[in-house]
Amino acid sequence: MNRSRDSFDVAVIGGGSAGLAAAVTAARQGARTILLERHGYLGGMGTAALVHTFCGLYLIRDELGAVLANEGFPAEMARRMIAATGLGPQRMGRVDVLPQHPVEFVRIADELVSAEQQLEVRFHSEVTAISQQENWEIQIAGRGGAESITAQSLVDASGDAMVATLLGADSSMVDSPRLQRPAYIFGVRGMLPMNDELRLQTAGWIVEGIRAGDLPNDALGLSFRPSGRAGEIFGTLDLTGGEKVENYDPLDAACLSRLEIHGRDVGSKVVTWLARKSQFWKEAYISHWPVRAGVRESRRWIGEYVLTGDDILAGNRFEDEIALATWPMEFRETARGPKLRFPEGDLPTGIPLRCLRPAGIGKLFVAGRCISVDHDAQASIRVMGTCFATGQAAGREAAKF
Ligand SMILES: Cc1cc2nc3c(=O)[nH]c(=O)nc-3n(C[C@H](O)[C@H](O)[C@H](O)COP(=O)(O)OP(=O)(O)OC[C@H]3O[C@@H](n4cnc5c(N)ncnc54)[C@H](O)[C@@H]3O)c2cc1C
Repeated sequence: MNRSRDSFDVAVIGGGSAGLAAAVTAARQGARTILLERHGYLGGMGTAALVHTFCGLYLIRDELGAVLANEGFPAEMARRMIAATGLGPQRMGRVDVLPQHPVEFVRIADELVSAEQQLEVRFHSEVTAISQQENWEIQIAGRGGAESITAQSLVDASGDAMVATLLGADSSMVDSPRLQRPAYIFGVRGMLPMNDELRLQTAGWIVEGIRAGDLPNDALGLSFRPSGRAGEIFGTLDLTGGEKVENYDPLDAACLSRLEIHGRDVGSKVVTWLARKSQFWKEAYISHWPVRAGVRESRRWIGEYVLTGDDILAGNRFEDEIALATWPMEFRETARGPKLRFPEGDLPTGIPLRCLRPAGIGKLFVAGRCISVDHDAQASIRVMGTCFATGQAAGREAAKF
């Protein structure tokens, strides 16, 4: 194993759910590991975009009682989050979900990476170029300018399959109208406690506001949920992503910029309007914006195997499976709420290691929402419980070199 200052055994690009799991797992295998993240904290969509529920941690079951689907890192994250929030799994129909608080996620991630002697985390580091010689050469734009490091093996946990683009390798993305729609999530404080009745009433007031011409039509995509902390709720605004469905491009900075500004504009208008409309909302104010809007789907790798929606529906299993996908396919192709498709018999699906291995490129593994799956299967595997599991597997494999 290489020990020089800027040479590592494993480099993990992106510190979301998948990258965190990959980096901690690789370090625990004894590999000298670096985790590169462009933001100032870990967690990706689960912290920077304020997504506040872990899905895909548990098997789908008719019977009550949550049963973990993947042992190791996903189980450890569940345990730590339950200890931090005091909230256990919650039943929603046939699935169990775990409420998570982004503030706790950031703190838990800090604790996890700080405990690993073999792991170095570099925040404010954007990977801008990659090439493969004998080892991987990785160019980073940091605050002091460009720098470079080398690593024997690489994990792409960037969410957007950035490494595929930087290498000019095969990747795929469905046409804009079929892409899962984005959402803008923000924190609200100062209102009276939110219960189911008030949530329904609030939806009614928003419709009233739109009919009266006081609120934009996009306000229809907004719903509110308690955060689990006293006096705090999250607003989730599902958006089309552009004036027309075909205008949404999650890889285009101009499109994302419009989305960020539009999310804040609609969120502000609705909270101001509700504060005028109802006693419950009179003192409410927006307490925090996300670091970034939430992107559910973008570019994916094409690996040695492409897991399909049919695999998920049939609950197919594979000899080389490294994790189980247990979340129903959750389609969000419009901003009007989810459409769920459950696997036959509620069976879990195996995720083969081949989905984490880009075809024809050695010492490279992929983890998280951009692994090699089709659009339908991505609607299942993108959830954070499954990202922890694919991250864990990618870290374990990358550490073997
Ligand atoms: C609105 C919304 C609602 C959702 N709801 C749920 C839910 O209820 N439950 C659930 O479990 N899942 C949910 N999801 C899905 C889930 O949050 C994501 O799919 C998951 O968090 C993806 O994890 P990831 O690690 O693959 O990628 P990401 O979380 O996107 O992390 C990728 C990381 O890589 C970093 N990065 C990217 N490129 C570079 C680079 N070049 N250099 C350095 N760093 C880089 C990014 O900054 C980021 O931190 C939701 C998603 C959205 C958007």
